[in-house]
Amino acid sequence: MKLFAGMTLHAQLSLRYILALGFVAVLTLASYGLMDNTVTTQVLGAKLLNVAGRQRMLCQRVDILAMRAEAAAGAERRAGLKELDGALQELVQGHNVLVHGPASALGMVEDSPALSVLRADDDGTEALFHGFVAQARELRELLAQGQDPGGQARERLSRSGDALLGRLDQRMDALQHMGEGSLKSLSLQVKALLGAALVGLVLTALLLLRPMIAEVVRDREHLESLVRNLETQAGTDKLTGAYNRRTWDVEIRREFSKARRQGQRLCLVMTDLDLFKHVNDEHGHQRGDRVLQEFTQCLRQAVRASDTLFRMGGEEFAVLLPGTDIENGRVTAEKLRARVADTPLDGLPITASFGVAETDGNESPDELYRRADQALYAAKANGRNRVEIAVKEV
Ligand code: GH3
Ligand code: MG
Ligand code: MG
Repeated sequence: MKLFAGMTLHAQLSLRYILALGFVAVLTLASYGLMDNTVTTQVLGAKLLNVAGRQRMLCQRVDILAMRAEAAAGAERRAGLKELDGALQELVQGHNVLVHGPASALGMVEDSPALSVLRADDDGTEALFHGFVAQARELRELLAQGQDPGGQARERLSRSGDALLGRLDQRMDALQHMGEGSLKSLSLQVKALLGAALVGLVLTALLLLRPMIAEVVRDREHLESLVRNLETQAGTDKLTGAYNRRTWDVEIRREFSKARRQGQRLCLVMTDLDLFKHVNDEHGHQRGDRVLQEFTQCLRQAVRASDTLFRMGGEEFAVLLPGTDIENGRVTAEKLRARVADTPLDGLPITASFGVAETDGNESPDELYRRADQALYAAKANGRNRVEIAVKEV
């Protein structure tokens, strides 16, 4: 991705993590906001309906109390009128809070839509309310003075009470409708958020996590192949490609314990180019190097796949022959000797000497090496281009 071009892997991974985490954080905050909004809407809606419902109830109560006071006399009427006073006072206070008080008293903001529904006065509800209260007070005064207000006054109060109730019902319906509408829109928002979350997760997986994992896997594979190459390089000789002494140390121990465990024979053939110093002296070091390379190839082609070739230093090589006794080891060494002698190495007629030793694994690897080297020394001493066998010391 272009966004990550030129960045280190560490910086790329950090940025991708931050992007993914940022996305999760945005989703979490948006979900919290929606939930908070839903709860607040529900609580406010319930509170408003409660206050409006109470006004409706008080309105009915004023009507009923006025009727009862009218029907009563003496102390009973006085008590009824007191109750009527209380209901009227509560009704007016409630009205003031609902219609004229600060929005904060209802837990709302000044321009909230629910409040404007409650406070709208395009249908003259305010005048209707004050008319109802004035009629109730007038009726109350007449009753307090012991006068008969007459059926018409009672009927007028009932009529305006009914009209007021009708208006209050309309407002409560509108509020309820509005609450349902806002819940519906919240539910839609929740669904949209959920959809966005799912799409976001898929995009995160596709655009961030997948390339990130692919990159980590690619880097890991690259690193593993580098380590494998380094291991191979560390275990092989650069000039000839044969295993070096480092690998020898590991392999000889492994072959020894295998020979001991399986009761197998193990042969070691040591070889060294004859009078190689002359090659360097007469033809130069570079040509000497090429001779060494061809000597290695010649040996490798003549041994089995299970045999292993090591450059022990200079122009001295070792061949490990697992599952081979001294007689077969001697035959192999002889085959190698003849082959080297018959093959010009980089065009030069060169021979090599060989020393062979066999072990059953019941001696140290150094001991086997020493005996094979002694046999090689004997081959040199006995005229070179020969194979000598180490005698097993008792
Ligand atoms: P001998 O038959 O007794 O083994 O005689 P030699 O000349 O082969 O033995 P000597 O130990 O006297 O000389 C070994 C030479 O091998 C000396 C050294 O310059 C050469 N040599 C060792 N390693 C390398 C190498 O990596 N490249 C080249 N070109 N020559 C090497
Ligand atoms: Mg030599
Ligand atoms: Mg040598």
